[in-house]
Amino acid sequence: MTTSLVTGGAGFLGSHLCERLLAESHRVICVDSLITGKTGNIDHLRDNPQFKLLRHDVTVPFEVDEAVDNVLHFASPASPIDYLELPIQTLKVGSLGTHNTLGLAKAKNARYFLASTSEVYGDPLVHPQPESYWGNVNPVGPRGVYDEAKRFGEAMVMAYHRVHGLDTRIVRIFNTYGPRMRPHDGRVVPAFIQQAIANTPLTVFGDGSQTRSFCFVDDLIEGVWRLLNSDVNEPMNLGNPTEMTILEFAQAIIELTGSSSEIGFEPLPTDDPKIRQPDITFARTELGWEPTTLLKDGLAETIAYFRQTLAAESNE
Ligand code: UDP
Repeated sequence: MTTSLVTGGAGFLGSHLCERLLAESHRVICVDSLITGKTGNIDHLRDNPQFKLLRHDVTVPFEVDEAVDNVLHFASPASPIDYLELPIQTLKVGSLGTHNTLGLAKAKNARYFLASTSEVYGDPLVHPQPESYWGNVNPVGPRGVYDEAKRFGEAMVMAYHRVHGLDTRIVRIFNTYGPRMRPHDGRVVPAFIQQAIANTPLTVFGDGSQTRSFCFVDDLIEGVWRLLNSDVNEPMNLGNPTEMTILEFAQAIIELTGSSSEIGFEPLPTDDPKIRQPDITFARTELGWEPTTLLKDGLAETIAYFRQTLAAESNE
């Protein structure tokens, strides 16, 4: 039986990944500090004898006393608000956490998979962004803690690949949404859905002309699974190339929720990227992968999740 260790396994993406790996008959060791992850995301997996939760902060070295075939490093604060509140932890999990988990993979002779990000492209000057673009990142701005930690992580993974011959994968994940995002993590999807449900104004930052491209979590996890099983060592973009402005996105959320919310404008955060769209030619060619979920369908599922979560919160 294949054993996969997932760091950040109690987080948004990590929990969906644990679920998928179990469905593929892997044994799963979920490692999470629970700083931004939640046991609620994995409660439904805990009765499965093939699933194990190890509460640990991966910035501190750790050992696992059993065979491990895959190490997938998905731990990190991932919303701009989280990494502004946890700047040092964000830097540490992307650097020390990557080093420690690479060391574990090397000791176990395991395959290594790094969850990187479209933030490595910063505020991009090339559009859409292909993997060959080196990016436009402000290292000392407030977002630099996340962007530079992930860039360092990618460099570290490639060094382990080149020096130690470790079998490695790097995915650059573009904006992904779906059930289990934290309602209060400050990202645009939970923020707008929550505001629309409450019929309060949607907080559009800037004039809303900045663009993003939103990928449903199931599509993303399918791409991760295919990349894990491929032989691609270079970084690969995964995301949905359908791009829209944040203002268009706000209008879509109001319509899909049937909300009476209006749109309010707030200042644009520092270094907020003006445009973002993945070039997924590489994933299409190598994995035969592309997203298949329509935005309205993915959002309907996500809105239903938030309605339920927020109702449960208000009953507490
Ligand atoms: N945004 C917004 N209102 C919010 C939260 C975010 O207008 O309440 C904007 C934000 O400025 C950015 C985009 O939505 O341009 C996506 O933000 P998010 O925090 O989801 O992730 P990012 O893509 O910036 O990492």
